Amino acid sequence: MAEVRLPKRIMNSGGWCQGCGHGVVVRLIAEVLDELGVADKAIAVEDVACGSMSMSGVLNCDAIMAAHGRPIPVANGAKGARPDSIVYAHLGDGSAYSIGSAELVHTALRGDNMTVIVVNNTVYGMTGGQMAPTTLPAEKTASSPKGKDADRYGVLNVVDLIGKLNATYIARGEIYDVASTAKTKAMIKKAFQNQIDNKGFSLVEVLAPCPTNLHMTPVQCKEFVHTEATKFFPLGEFVDK
Ligand code: SF4
Repeated sequence: MAEVRLPKRIMNSGGWCQGCGHGVVVRLIAEVLDELGVADKAIAVEDVACGSMSMSGVLNCDAIMAAHGRPIPVANGAKGARPDSIVYAHLGDGSAYSIGSAELVHTALRGDNMTVIVVNNTVYGMTGGQMAPTTLPAEKTASSPKGKDADRYGVLNVVDLIGKLNATYIARGEIYDVASTAKTKAMIKKAFQNQIDNKGFSLVEVLAPCPTNLHMTPVQCKEFVHTEATKFFPLGEFVDK
């Protein structure tokens, strides 16, 4: 029988690779849902990608797994069907800004009352580390082994994409250290509070490491995100109505 070769990654208890940012972000979401007292009526809509491992016994709330790139319209449907629920889409940058970019744009344009949390690690994670719209110039990926050609490909910043549409809140944080993680948690909390207050569309992007696909140690990858990714993806609150 042929040998089955598994991807070279070391799993932590949630199923994510060690040093992955997804688990930290899910932890922040869980804390916020508890603190706002809405965990019992939360519906998580997960991309069929790395973030979806929060559905494997990590998060104790209702959840739906959407096709790749489609958590935002699925969350929109769930919110429409259950308007009293607190619905959020949790997805990666490739899913949100490439595969599902049309849905993102039109949901933001309508200002639909929902919360979107995007984990930006500058590559497609689950599918094997291919170049994404968020890949940095010269960054090596599985599909740009010599580095992303900056003369040919741009870097997509979500604020440029939807910042002038009809969103209520757009913010970007990181999970580099305790202070930055606390700031990011506050952003996530505001994004959920906006939905509770029926204020419209909120998106928080969290810069996070994917050590497996960037071929770095967790510490190296964390430093890369903090020092390099933030040059293209500045932190802060960009829309706050
Ligand atoms: S491949 Fe990357 S994003 Fe996916 S679980 Fe591993 S470290 Fe996280």
